[in-house]
Amino acid sequence: MDTQTGQPAPLEPMPTDWTRALAVVAHPDDLEYGGAAAVADWTDGGREVAYLLASRGEAGIDTLAPEECAPLREAEQRASAAVVGVSTVEFLDYRDGVIEYGLDLRRDIAAAIRRHRPELLITLNHRDTWGGQGGGGFWNTPDHKAVGRATLDAAADAGNRWIFPELIEQGLEPWNGVRWIAVAGSPLATHAADATAGMERSIASLMEHKAYIEALTDQDPEEYCRGFLTGFAEQAAARFGGRPAVTFELFSR
Ligand SMILES: [Zn+2]
Repeated sequence: MDTQTGQPAPLEPMPTDWTRALAVVAHPDDLEYGGAAAVADWTDGGREVAYLLASRGEAGIDTLAPEECAPLREAEQRASAAVVGVSTVEFLDYRDGVIEYGLDLRRDIAAAIRRHRPELLITLNHRDTWGGQGGGGFWNTPDHKAVGRATLDAAADAGNRWIFPELIEQGLEPWNGVRWIAVAGSPLATHAADATAGMERSIASLMEHKAYIEALTDQDPEEYCRGFLTGFAEQAAARFGGRPAVTFELFSR
C-alpha cells in the first residue's frame, strides 16, 4: 500500500538476470493457475525451467479413486508443462492432501535444488489465505502452505553442507546459488512478469488438465481457463503500468 495515495503500491518487474529456475509446488495444476504465462516467456528467452511436484494430485477428483487418478494427473501435468517449454517434470511421492511441513520435505526439496542448481526458485502461495490481506479472503490448503514454506527454507538448506549431511553422501554437493524465491499467487505480491506473450500458452497449458477441469466445472473448458487467467492478469495490470501480468511475492537471498 502506498501510504500517500492509499492505492496498492506498483509491482516491480521480476529479475531477468538468471538462466535456471526450479518451480516446486504441491499439485498438478498449481503452476498453471499461477505462473505459467511467465514461464512461457522465460523459456522463450532461452532460460531453463524445471518443475518438481510434491504429489500427483491424486485426491483432486471426487469421482476418481487415487490409484486411477495419480497416473492421469501426472500425464496431464507433463503435457501441460510441455506447452510452456518445460520438459523436466519430477514428482516426489507425498500423499495429496496430507503433506506436512517437516524435515523430510525440506530435505527432498534441498536435494532437488542441488541437482538442478537454479538461481530462481518458484513456489505457490505459502500464506494462510488467498487474497484478504486485510483479513478474510479464502483459506489456503495445508499442502500449499507446507510446500511453499519448505521451499523457502530449502533454498538455504541446499547451500549448507551440515544441515543434511546425508545428501553429501549421495553425491549432492551444496548449491548456494539461489538468489530469489518467487511465490506465485501470494496476497502480498511485490513483483510481476508481463503475461502478454505467454497468455495464450498459459491458457492452453491449464486446459491440458482436462480430467480435473471437467470434474471441476460445467463451463466450457476454454472459457473457464481463459476467464480465470485473463481475469487475474488484468487485475494485476492496475499495479503494473496497465500491462497484464502474473504476480509474485519475491524474497531475495
Ligand atoms: Zn494445489
